[in-house]
Amino acid sequence: MNDETELSECVECGGVTEPQKMTIDEWWGEELFLFEKVPVRVCRDCGEVYIAADVAKRLETEMQTKSHCYRQVSVPVVAYEEMAA
Ligand SMILES: [Zn+2]
Repeated sequence: MNDETELSECVECGGVTEPQKMTIDEWWGEELFLFEKVPVRVCRDCGEVYIAADVAKRLETEMQTKSHCYRQVSVPVVAYEEMAA
């Protein structure tokens, strides 16, 4: 029994999930973190993304310690109301 087995079937639609590596964005308080090449499972049918518990735990630890952060990016922030005005 491991996380891989648990995550092989999509909870949302019952479809098959497959392993992929993708960039995960995660807010920690006021800070947005980008994690590159995170091993996840993605549903072939509905696109739902699953992160194994041990991987999620690792991301959380990193957000607290930032011990592996290798660069910073700035992102544009836009209020939709301003665009529509
Ligand atoms: Zn699905």
